[in-house]
Amino acid sequence: MALLSLDDVYSLGESTLISNGCNAENAAAVSRTMTAAERDGSQSHGLFRLPAYVKGLREGNANGTADPVVEQIAPSVLKVHGQEGFASLALERTKDPLIALAREQGIAMCGLTRIRHFAALWPEVEMLAEQGLVGFAVTAALPYVAPAGGREALFGTNPMAFAWPRENGTMLAFDQAASVIARGDVMIHARDGHPVPEGTGLDKDGNPTTDGAAILDGGVQLAFGGYKGSAIALMIELMAGAMIGEVFSYEAKETAIPGCPFNGGEFLMAIDPSKTAGAGFIAHGEELLAIIENMNGARLPGARRHANRARGGPVEVSDKILEAIAAL
Ligand code: NDP
Repeated sequence: MALLSLDDVYSLGESTLISNGCNAENAAAVSRTMTAAERDGSQSHGLFRLPAYVKGLREGNANGTADPVVEQIAPSVLKVHGQEGFASLALERTKDPLIALAREQGIAMCGLTRIRHFAALWPEVEMLAEQGLVGFAVTAALPYVAPAGGREALFGTNPMAFAWPRENGTMLAFDQAASVIARGDVMIHARDGHPVPEGTGLDKDGNPTTDGAAILDGGVQLAFGGYKGSAIALMIELMAGAMIGEVFSYEAKETAIPGCPFNGGEFLMAIDPSKTAGAGFIAHGEELLAIIENMNGARLPGARRHANRARGGPVEVSDKILEAIAAL
């Protein structure tokens, strides 16, 4: 492992993306996303992803000069035309108009389309909670997960994120895949030869396995919590696909290039609780959160990431990743 400052992580991301066809604005936005992931200890969405972003640029599957356009299509509905670019810049451009609409209307939603979302979802819900709003986001992926009882990959690992505003611009946030673990984590376990948790997936013959490589080699991942997680994965397909005029995971596969970010959509919603509950909602929420924080053995989701964030780097990055990036 090498020790990198957050500035080093950012610079490495930015220079590598620019060398491979990204314009400055897109390179900066994607590098902010990867740096935030490294800062928070979400390694599977940090520099680990950079070779795949570059592959997407080199193979013409992602537009490094995308100029995302935010369009208001109804009083509280936005549509973002991502122009086949990485999601980071599209999300940055969505932030201000979505916040303004939520404050005006009490609730506002956005369908981000024709984007390559290859990252964690907490940045977009946290950017809303920092401004005193509730954030909710879902996106689909590629077909990696079998519906409960089935053996064929149909759903994506389909993450869902929620953020709740707390005092002084802080927030509670959870961000979780609908699969037992994220695809990137299966890849990291397989690369490092570590077993994945039981229940993560089936091998190509339909047998349960803890060998990540067997899951990747023609097997399937499973949803968390059996049929309940499977239902959430299904809901996310509908909300991030048919509901916003975008593809399902199995449709995204038709145009996907192995190892590259894939086309898809994201549904993002912002709610202003001061409209529904009045000014006291933050204090009321704190009462519930304090019970969990003070309960022996329990913790709030996001607490691990926020503790890493407070440390502010430097971060450990695997030599294998740095070697792969150097070759780019
Ligand atoms: P985890 O299972 O690691 O964590 C899920 C959530 O649970 C986090 O908010 C985490 O908080 C929280 N948590 C973990 N342990 C506890 C605990 N003991 N008590 C309370 N809360 C806890 O994440 P996943 O593997 O499900 O997902 C990883 C990432 O992959 C997500 O960021 C997701 O957005 C991303 N992803 C992206 C996809 C894409 O296509 N763009 C596809 C699929 C996943 P904390 O972080 O603080 O530990």
